[in-house]
Amino acid sequence: MQNVLTFSLSIFLMVFTQQISVAQPIHQMPTLGYSYDALEPYIDGQTMEIHFSKHHQAYLTNLNKALNGTKAEKLPLELLLLGAERRGAAIRNNGGGHYNHTLFWSILSPNPEKSPSGKLADDIHKTFTSVDSLKKLLNNGASTRFGSGWVWLYVTPEKKLAVCSTPNQDNPIMDAAKENRGIPILGIDVWEHAYYLKYQNKRGDYLGAIWNVIDWSKVGMLYENALKDPLLKDIEKDDWTALKEFHLVMAQTFHPMEEGKLEPIKTRSGEMLEKAQILAKSKVPTTFKSDAITKALTDLVDGSAKLDKLIKKKGKDDKIKESLTKLHDTFHVIQGLCSDDH
Ligand code: MN
Repeated sequence: MQNVLTFSLSIFLMVFTQQISVAQPIHQMPTLGYSYDALEPYIDGQTMEIHFSKHHQAYLTNLNKALNGTKAEKLPLELLLLGAERRGAAIRNNGGGHYNHTLFWSILSPNPEKSPSGKLADDIHKTFTSVDSLKKLLNNGASTRFGSGWVWLYVTPEKKLAVCSTPNQDNPIMDAAKENRGIPILGIDVWEHAYYLKYQNKRGDYLGAIWNVIDWSKVGMLYENALKDPLLKDIEKDDWTALKEFHLVMAQTFHPMEEGKLEPIKTRSGEMLEKAQILAKSKVPTTFKSDAITKALTDLVDGSAKLDKLIKKKGKDDKIKESLTKLHDTFHVIQGLCSDDH
């Protein structure tokens, strides 16, 4: 009997330890849908192998290392990138590196659709007049990018097509991209590691050749997906700096108050009013414009003014608590309306 128990226990421990040891990190390498030499003669097999199995792999390994045990570990990659600048260099460079290369491999193909079709083709014609002029814009962005980086065709929060280039492993999802934010649907890697073995210093030759392996049917699919992706709204909201700044003061005064500490709001009510006024005057992102938001912004200024006045005349703590709670509710009308689809 004891043997049976010991045996069962050791089986259990074996299975249990195995489960621990095979626990996978959240972020994983994609599968390359073709062999390393499948894109020859345009991109050579050795470049592809080193690029995928060494460069991309290193970004992924370092991303998982940077995230290990942190609160950000479980966030989807896109939401990590959204705040890349504030999250620091390790997440920005390696998260960007992982996202950018995953996108890059997915739009390359040994049997590509050589020109866009459907809605993508229509919208390229509307925005850039022709596919050729779009390619020219992208190639120009790529050849004038000093040092390492990427050139992108991306979808803006207003659902327009646009072109930009970013340094290093940045991309348009990131806060770091400033006025060029959106969801990328086509990216060209212009780091030397992407072309140097075959093209050496001739970046222009690489840029000429790569169009032979870019699959427009894949870019078209990414376009359709991007147009309905809630990430566009997240980007737009993340770009609403005045909202973020008000939110910060609110968070740093309201939460202490919940724990009975009124000192933060008593010292910062003037700042809160000022941030509310800036927020009310700021440009409301197009997709958030509504009568409800306009009203909430006015209420936020009125509420902040009342609270500030109450504190300046040394009002009772109960009244201050009541006033701040009401202001917090008003703020969440804006926050709530902004994030209703997430
Ligand atoms: Mn690369």
